[in-house]
Amino acid sequence: MGDKNEFLKYVEDIFESKWLSNNGPLVQQLEQRIAQHHRVKHCVAMSNGTVALEIAIRALELKGEVIIPSYTFIATAHALHWQAITPVFADIDAGTHCLDPESVRKMITPNTSGIIGVHLWGHAAPVEELQNIADEHNLKLMFDAAHAFGNSHKGKIMGNFGEAEVLSFHATKLFNTFEGGAVLTNNDELAKKMRLMRNFGFGGVDNVIYPGTNGKLTEICAAMGLVNMDNLDSVIEHNKSNYLAYQRGLERLPGISIFRFDEAQKNNYQYVVMEVDEACPVSRDDIVKALHAENILARKYFWPGCHNMKPYKLLFPHAGMLLPNTQAISERVIVLPTGTNLNIDEINTITTVIRTLLISHDEP
Ligand SMILES: *Cc1c(COP(=O)(O)O)cnc(C)c1O
Repeated sequence: MGDKNEFLKYVEDIFESKWLSNNGPLVQQLEQRIAQHHRVKHCVAMSNGTVALEIAIRALELKGEVIIPSYTFIATAHALHWQAITPVFADIDAGTHCLDPESVRKMITPNTSGIIGVHLWGHAAPVEELQNIADEHNLKLMFDAAHAFGNSHKGKIMGNFGEAEVLSFHATKLFNTFEGGAVLTNNDELAKKMRLMRNFGFGGVDNVIYPGTNGKLTEICAAMGLVNMDNLDSVIEHNKSNYLAYQRGLERLPGISIFRFDEAQKNNYQYVVMEVDEACPVSRDDIVKALHAENILARKYFWPGCHNMKPYKLLFPHAGMLLPNTQAISERVIVLPTGTNLNIDEINTITTVIRTLLISHDEP
């Protein structure tokens, strides 16, 4: 979290202006700063990332079927299903954990209207290949960039790929506004449409021109965002040193690897992702249990995959047969604790717990 006194100054301003919501001055300021940070023309702030996804999907007029990875947070799928659009799950690449373009091609039917790539762990989805597929088949392409705040791909910052990219500012994310989100786009018309949609479709006083929803970000949330923007560099620096400490602490362990970021790009190091493969003497699930027993809250992500969660399992009971990498990776991944509440000493404790566990199992 950013500086409390700076936040309280904004609270004073809010009490002074008595402007609480509806595209207030702090929301406008935050939108400008986030657009600048991503070097993108428009940032349309929303009440949360899920509503931002829903509004972007609707503004792009997606319908029928939309191809997404199953290996993502459930909101990517729900944002479609909630609007009676069928999420069609494609497989991921085992190396990048992002959509596999070949699998995407196989999922295209006459009902497909779009593709939503996810920049998982902040690592860019295969944006060029997906754009080629979208162009060939006349599909709309957008991205769930909830993990990728401020990250770059080939020197270009996220927010500039596809028709639109969606950010989440949830409390658990790199950058937070308590709850919040945004859509980034370079398309003027699309931005205008989404601003209308997030405010009930009001085109002017007493004039509703679209069946919109309520996706507005509040001033108090924007205040948190402005304070956290000032704090962003130090958060990323802290995350990076945590990531490097994990890398050092888990070196040369059998069957253990840390998902690597491309150091030539801007990375936010929001997630430290450990993969456990067959060479490891202890199973992924037993490592998680051992960590929980020490009150270390590591998590299996995104296990068991969206396609295995009840609403989608009922819709597509056999989806897993076409998702071998999703199945394999979701059995291998542990997301390790990080963030500014953890320091290097605590991370060294965590890596020592993992090392000790593996070494004690390795002995005959
Ligand atoms: C967090 C997240 C969302 C949802 O964002 P909220 O702001 O929590 O609604 C969507 N997709 C991904 C990949 C996420 O990590």
